[in-house]
Amino acid sequence: KSPQCSNPSGLIGDSSCCDYETVGKLNVDFSAKLQEIVSMPFFRYFKVNLYKECPFWDNAGLCMNRDCSVETMDKQKIPEQWRSEALGKVSMPTPNQLFGAIPIKPAKIKDQEFCAPDIATDEVYVDLRDNPERFTGYSGPSAGMVWKAIYEENCFDVSKEMTAGCQYCESERNKLREQQAHPEEHDLLKESNILVPPEPAPIDAKKPSKAQMDEIFSRVPKGKGELQQLMQGIAKEDGPEESCLEKRVYYRLISGLHASISIHICDEWFNQTTGEWGPNLDCFVSRVGMHPERLENIYFDYVVVLRAVTKISDYLAGYEFCTGDESVDKNIMSVVTELVDMVKQCPPTFDEKLLFQDGGQGKKLKNQFRDHFRNVTRIMDCVGCEKCRLWGKVQTTGLGTALKILFSYDDASLKGHRATGVLSRPEIVALLNTFNRLSESVSAIERFGVMYQQRLREE
Ligand code: FAD
Repeated sequence: KSPQCSNPSGLIGDSSCCDYETVGKLNVDFSAKLQEIVSMPFFRYFKVNLYKECPFWDNAGLCMNRDCSVETMDKQKIPEQWRSEALGKVSMPTPNQLFGAIPIKPAKIKDQEFCAPDIATDEVYVDLRDNPERFTGYSGPSAGMVWKAIYEENCFDVSKEMTAGCQYCESERNKLREQQAHPEEHDLLKESNILVPPEPAPIDAKKPSKAQMDEIFSRVPKGKGELQQLMQGIAKEDGPEESCLEKRVYYRLISGLHASISIHICDEWFNQTTGEWGPNLDCFVSRVGMHPERLENIYFDYVVVLRAVTKISDYLAGYEFCTGDESVDKNIMSVVTELVDMVKQCPPTFDEKLLFQDGGQGKKLKNQFRDHFRNVTRIMDCVGCEKCRLWGKVQTTGLGTALKILFSYDDASLKGHRATGVLSRPEIVALLNTFNRLSESVSAIERFGVMYQQRLREE
């Protein structure tokens, strides 16, 4: 661990670089606007392929819990213009479309893409509001293997020729295939994959002490510009010797996403005893709060995505939403413009230029970073619970889009006519939904803090 990582309260100290009084205040403003945005049909209807085979191992089991299933939409409800784009009928299909045209032959993925395309003929449309991300009961070996595989993509080695892919990742994948072929020899796979919902983990058993809880909530960032300081600290720090800046950034992105998903699960937890949905403080504490770096990594993802949204603010302000109804278009435009105005008041929270320096090596590293992130988006097809897969795809696509904005384009190429077609509709939808999910995590952290105080008073 780096010194700063082991001393998070120092790392996230006050700074006056941001315009907002506190991170909490910043997120209160953003969260209201983001909620408004993601409740609009343009941002709610997501086209996705939920039925692709896992490309890395044989995904035998599927979560059969009712809460794992996804309610799909009648395609006729989708404005023709959006369907046309999706089916590749638009007059000028953009080279960067993620879930774009049905390919006649597999197309080479463009260099600037950080996500693997979700192309296939059996995509569905999903209303994200009808399928909230929350506790589903999906866990056990299947979920564990997916997270393991995702973390194992965090392997960069610029000293090797990378034409055959990252050697380490490849060998780890072979191990997974081997385990899958002979499950009887491997503890992890001895149980079959999830077929029935498991009982929730006995969280009470891991209940932390008062002192631990105090410590946890004292780490939640507060004060002006702490996010920016956090980012600067991460970027400038030398870090542990085996870990370069890019690798740390990669890890933090994944860990932040994982922690954010855990918070959504804990925030909308199903209590099997009472049959009620609600926040579960012990779940939050044991999965995220007790691991301060996980908590910080959520804020890290937040600043990365915020920076990406800031970078495309002009592009968003000029985007044609084309719902087929001018008044609806104007309405979306006005809310998006309000968000754009808010992000524009924000000083840069992430300096992407600090990554991938060092000429040829930097370029190689960037390609590896991109290729590994693409694999993360592919790994989503191995998630054995439909709804988790849906939100996994939304959020990895959102993060991938943020990375594409930050690392594939300079500021100038995102302005005016040069930016035409840079992002597809699914990318914009995924980016803003991901921003909203991170924002909800930050809000949930604050609410869990209040719950904790309340618990203290009651004890
Ligand atoms: P897991 O969350 O499975 O974590 C596995 C291990 O990773 C932990 O033991 C720990 O060592 C490490 N770890 C945990 N968090 C972090 C972190 N932030 N940073 C670094 N390391 C970490 N379940 C639902 O109920 N609803 C969902 O919507 C949902 N979506 C999912 C989406 C995806 C893409 C995946 C892979 C799983 C999803 N799950 C979902 C399952 C959920 O994430 C957990 O896997 C499951 O609840 C079991 O949790 P766990 O406590 O055993 O540890």
